Amino acid sequence: MKSLIILGSTGSIGTQALDVCRRDGYKVTALAAGSNIKLLEEQAREFKPSLVAVFNEEKAKELKIKLADTDIKVLCGVDGVCEAAQFDGDIVLNSIVGIAGLRPTLKAIEAKKTIALANKETLVTGGEIVNKLAREKGVKILPVDSEHSAIFQSLQGAPNGSLRKILLTASGGPFFGKRKKDLENVTVKEALNHPNWSMGAKITIDSATLMNKGLEVIEAVHLFGISADNIEVLVHRQSIVHSGVELSDGAVIAQLGTPDMKLPIQYALTYPERSNYAFEKLDLFKISTLTFQKPDYETFRCLPLCIKAINEGGLAPTAVNGANEEAVRLFLEGKIKFLEIAELVEKALQNVNNKKEFNLDDILETDKQARELVRTYI
Ligand code: NDP
Repeated sequence: MKSLIILGSTGSIGTQALDVCRRDGYKVTALAAGSNIKLLEEQAREFKPSLVAVFNEEKAKELKIKLADTDIKVLCGVDGVCEAAQFDGDIVLNSIVGIAGLRPTLKAIEAKKTIALANKETLVTGGEIVNKLAREKGVKILPVDSEHSAIFQSLQGAPNGSLRKILLTASGGPFFGKRKKDLENVTVKEALNHPNWSMGAKITIDSATLMNKGLEVIEAVHLFGISADNIEVLVHRQSIVHSGVELSDGAVIAQLGTPDMKLPIQYALTYPERSNYAFEKLDLFKISTLTFQKPDYETFRCLPLCIKAINEGGLAPTAVNGANEEAVRLFLEGKIKFLEIAELVEKALQNVNNKKEFNLDDILETDKQARELVRTYI
């Protein structure tokens, strides 16, 4: 049985990953979170890892006291999270939100762990250096994002070089069909009301702006070595076709399922095998109709801005990602309006000090500058 390290264990993906562990009996050796020590303590007592890490140092101190009656080691800060990423275990499931997931991913690759990657911002910002390091270390990166898992599943058995096009589906989010004028005064509550998926706050807002789909285009470029021009985004309101591929002979292969993240999580953990247990089965008679439409690139500007960023390459994707993370935080705090998120992402793209050759420090500096630009604007 494989052993697992789960980074971001208290979040939406992290808790579902632990549901999979509960059901399939994986040994959990380390857990990490940002600051939610109440849930992390419960998880630690249930799964008995040897190590837990908390990014927030004060919260880590509190957790250490709470877990004093156990043998569980408590670490803190980014170094603690990185140490957890390198701890004993076969697979590191990274479900941290945001660019905070990049360094732990790199540390896990250095330690030659198989990576089950939910943290899309890792590849959006660090795709080149992550892929290079993974190649050097012979490490596999298995996608957890449902669309990328669907693409990965559709490609099983396809000969190398036969991929022509990716069909990347998007639910369209809560504001599908709306125009800019309808979105001027939308509230945080309305933006958080996703029609099909239950997810963390940041990705839910990203789904409402279609930034999430833009980040996924960039993620797909890095995972599957295809250009953004060969990735077609289709709005598919039912979220049943999780994505697919077109191969050299014109065959289109897709993966379908209910909107439940437990299947892509489970597949990343069992790969290349398949579990004998299905969490939720798809009943196509119940669904009956599947529809596909073109996205509205005029209203949902974040999607074309991400495509522009990956076509420019270098540090441009990091700039749009950093600006978006900061803008989403400000939107959730009620400090900016919904449509300003895309405006700020665009400003960051216009102002990025881009270069083609870069390292981790350049990425972190670009992220910082993009966030500062957003903060200066408000
Ligand atoms: P959540 O906000 O629900 O969870 C985020 C997790 O990251 C929490 O455990 C949080 O800890 C932890 N965290 C935040 N900052 C840090 C840090 N600096 N160091 C360590 N841990 C940290 O997010 P989701 O689970 O929704 O998403 C996680 C990632 O997966 C994102 O990149 C998202 O895009 C991707 N994803 C999510 C999907 C979903 O269905 N939710 C689907 C596909 C991809 P705490 O709780 O203590 O704050």
